Amino acid sequence: MSKLVVSYGIEPKDMVREALAAIGAASTINSKDKIGIKPNLVVDQPAALGATTSVKVVAGIIEYLQSAGCHNIIVLESSSIGHSTARAFSVCGYDKLAAQYGVELVNLKKDKTATVTTADLNIAVCRTALELDYLINVPVLKAHCQTDLTCALKNLKGCIPDREKRRFHSLGLHRPIAALNTALKSNLVVVDGMCGDLTFEEGGNPVPMNRIIVGFDPVLVDAYAAELIGLDPSSIEYITLAEQFGVGSADLKKAEIIELGTDKHQPVPIPTSPLARQLSKYIDARSACSICYGSLIHALARLKEDRLLNQLPEKIKIGQEFSGRKEDGVGIGACTAGISCNLPGCPPKAKEIVEFLRANITPVASFAAASSPQ
Ligand code: SF4
Repeated sequence: MSKLVVSYGIEPKDMVREALAAIGAASTINSKDKIGIKPNLVVDQPAALGATTSVKVVAGIIEYLQSAGCHNIIVLESSSIGHSTARAFSVCGYDKLAAQYGVELVNLKKDKTATVTTADLNIAVCRTALELDYLINVPVLKAHCQTDLTCALKNLKGCIPDREKRRFHSLGLHRPIAALNTALKSNLVVVDGMCGDLTFEEGGNPVPMNRIIVGFDPVLVDAYAAELIGLDPSSIEYITLAEQFGVGSADLKKAEIIELGTDKHQPVPIPTSPLARQLSKYIDARSACSICYGSLIHALARLKEDRLLNQLPEKIKIGQEFSGRKEDGVGIGACTAGISCNLPGCPPKAKEIVEFLRANITPVASFAAASSPQ
């Protein structure tokens, strides 16, 4: 259970199939199982905007399942309050996917519900989700304005009716999210970490991260995901509560993490997000890989939240053109090993970058690149 497979690259369908094979997903599924794939279609926006699960990721899962003899597959979702799931299925390409692979799309906004009592809460849950034999949770790796992170554990909120979603907010989200995960078990998690959002679950500041993360334990997956975007897992209450409720373990030190991906060193695309463009002014990137650059952008977003950006002593160096160069400065990643103040890793996680920069920040009067107000 305490195993994660992380696949880097730019072809999500292939990466998903490889990661599922590497973790041995088929050995945990009976070919007769009714399998539900739960993407995150919180809004009706294409995945490139950072909010929704790429249809290519789900296509990779379906191809893997069908090649393993599993054909009783549905895709189920209830978009956020005020958003049409039918429209999200259409805009995000799921209508075409369903026709191509012969799978059914289930709009959970129209589903019946059953009440489950768990962790001192009565929770209304969509029946179709409860009646599955095997649930594949397919969240997007992104930040969230209220819970800091939204990934596997929070994605199951799309399996409850809208009235229950409203109540979850009135209860502060964390405890009901953790409780919901005791009522509804994710058998497998496949995180779309290709392009999530920097700050908000409904997109707007997409950052390419070019990775797929696969695991069986949603608590472990979320702990790993938190570190990827620069957060301490123990600071996210619903991760801690889910661990207390027995959903899984957040102990990354005990986890086996397998990394795949010969296609990992993709160049950084031009940032389309306004916030990423603003943060890029603090970076001296020379032939940086997008997996490394994305981590640095997430780390800088965390420092911005703490109003520490203007204390950075200079632009941060990152990228393959720094390999072999010896000079003063602050460098991120193995390529900048010759820079006087260096954080190793290929790629380092955003949490490691945040901790490294915090430890090495010295107050300065001004930071030439930082012309934008924080
Ligand atoms: S350390 Fe260098 S090679 Fe490794 S991911 Fe970062 S930029 Fe790419």
